[in-house]
Amino acid sequence: MTANLHLTAPPTASGLLWQVVRHESARPASEREDILVNPGFGVSFTDHMIDICWSEKGGWHRPRVMPYGPISLDPAAAVFHYAQEIFEGLKAYRHADGSIWTFRPEMNAARLQRSARRLALPELPTEVFLESLRHLLAVDAAWVPGAPETSLYLRPFMIAKEAFLGVRAAKKVGFYIIASPAGAYFSGGVKPVSIWLSERYTRAGKGGTGAAKFGGNYAASLLPMTEAGEHGCQQVLFLDDTGTHLEELGGMNLVLMYRDGRLVTPESDSILAGITLDSLLALASSRGHAVEQRRVSLAEWREGAVSGEITGAFACGTAAVVTPIGRLVAPDFEIVHEDGAASELTLSLREELTEIQYGQSADTRGWMVRLA
Ligand SMILES: *Cc1c(COP(=O)(O)O)cnc(C)c1O
Repeated sequence: MTANLHLTAPPTASGLLWQVVRHESARPASEREDILVNPGFGVSFTDHMIDICWSEKGGWHRPRVMPYGPISLDPAAAVFHYAQEIFEGLKAYRHADGSIWTFRPEMNAARLQRSARRLALPELPTEVFLESLRHLLAVDAAWVPGAPETSLYLRPFMIAKEAFLGVRAAKKVGFYIIASPAGAYFSGGVKPVSIWLSERYTRAGKGGTGAAKFGGNYAASLLPMTEAGEHGCQQVLFLDDTGTHLEELGGMNLVLMYRDGRLVTPESDSILAGITLDSLLALASSRGHAVEQRRVSLAEWREGAVSGEITGAFACGTAAVVTPIGRLVAPDFEIVHEDGAASELTLSLREELTEIQYGQSADTRGWMVRLA
């Protein structure tokens, strides 16, 4: 891959001087349009990426937009050995007038900072995070699809690049953003999933890394995911390290719906604070639903489902927005929510949120940020 055009953008709010290196052989419009017709999820990538360096001495420096391509690292780079890596996930949405927006990105920036603290990585200032998104969309805006429920999935990540096998926080780090066009998650309408109760494995323990968006948490969830598949389930529900309280799915938060209209989501130090969750609870609360964030035992869900006090459950996260849960499958019992698919509340909350994201209804909370 080659790149020829070097442009230096004027200094921005962060004070950083950006370099823009355009891809010399960016894919032609016809090829891009073919991909955007049926993008799938996480398989195709845009022509450019963001690359910013950090060193103990120089802080954040050399921010640039680069042609998308392999990252060359020393085999001794700490990320390969000690998994010092964190990431984020958010989307860019195309509105009817062609403008491109993202959703609450300052929450992603703040969460990346919290993840960084836990993984002994440097904190990226919020302005630099937002500038990075704008710079990437300035060159790759044509990659944001326009069909209903499609988006450009943005994947910021940070890795330890220092070549050193001693065990300590790396003194050289890289921050990157790549982008991948994403199709509608539920192409045939929203369908409930079956989830597997992981009794043998947890994703996080007290004082661990559960509240950080940390690659290692995902690595640890792959074996239980395989187990879920063997039991006909698409996702895994993890409990706390005592095996009594509900935590979350591998990459989505959990919400239980009660007959009296209450929405309850588990609280714990080892749950990832979802932005979709926070937003859905805000919408529900504005509609008059009582919202509780507290410890919830597995027994409460089992008994509530039997008595009819708990009428349904859903999972939520940026990728799928809202996924109704039809069944929780455990080795020796099952919880079934018959009307999981039809739950009026699940579907209407999903619709209300996506209408804001796609610019089809007014953004009264100031959640949307224009990128291009
Ligand atoms: C990213 C993530 C979520 C969902 O967070 P959103 O901000 O809503 O996308 C939930 N749980 C885990 C473990 C995650 O990594």
